[in-house]
Amino acid sequence: MEKIEVVIATRNSGKLREIQAILSPLGLKILSLRDFPEIPEIIEDGQTFEENAVKKAAAVSRQTSRMAIADDSGLAVDALQGRPGVFSSRYAGEKATDAERYQKLLKEMTGTPQGKRGAAFICAMAVASPKGKVEVVEGECRGEIAFAPKGSHGFGYDPVFYLPEWGKTMAELEPEVKNRISHRARALEKLKQVLPKFLEENR
Ligand code: IMP
Repeated sequence: MEKIEVVIATRNSGKLREIQAILSPLGLKILSLRDFPEIPEIIEDGQTFEENAVKKAAAVSRQTSRMAIADDSGLAVDALQGRPGVFSSRYAGEKATDAERYQKLLKEMTGTPQGKRGAAFICAMAVASPKGKVEVVEGECRGEIAFAPKGSHGFGYDPVFYLPEWGKTMAELEPEVKNRISHRARALEKLKQVLPKFLEENR
């Protein structure tokens, strides 16, 4: 049988590899936005991770006439009522570095004591069909905002995201471990469960 083609709505090769690895048992033909350089940047202006993931997947599916998968992720801090949330990548301005972003977060958390520093990395993953059907799932990884950065793996807020059960920040974990427990891995595992039926019903 001919393989179903699915476009992953990313140009980030790390993300693409991670998604490919988890979905490989499904026997799909995986493409990415690198195969469609003409597709313009999609503006992430939704109020929630789910809204942004759905918008991206639907736009890429429409523009490529293929099934498309898109994600949106970020950090939601309890003491900040869920901020930076969908603004995680723009939290310290469009051109800020990862370090500037997490330093701003640490500053905003000054005075928030141990026990009240809970946070979650959240990832929404959506799949869309060219006919306009969409399904979305969400994965979460809970931890705490550390008092100082530690570790050099990963990216983004990883150095200040402490996992009590590991006694380490996300940036101190080996990438293989992070890729097993992360919000993205958990969302992808859920997507993997619903994908075969979705693809069969909407191809
Ligand atoms: P996006 O989903 O690629 O747009 O990511 C949004 C932003 O959330 C990133 O720029 C990071 O600041 C943050 N973020 C998402 N996933 C992670 C992660 O696994 N570790 C650290 N930061 C993350």
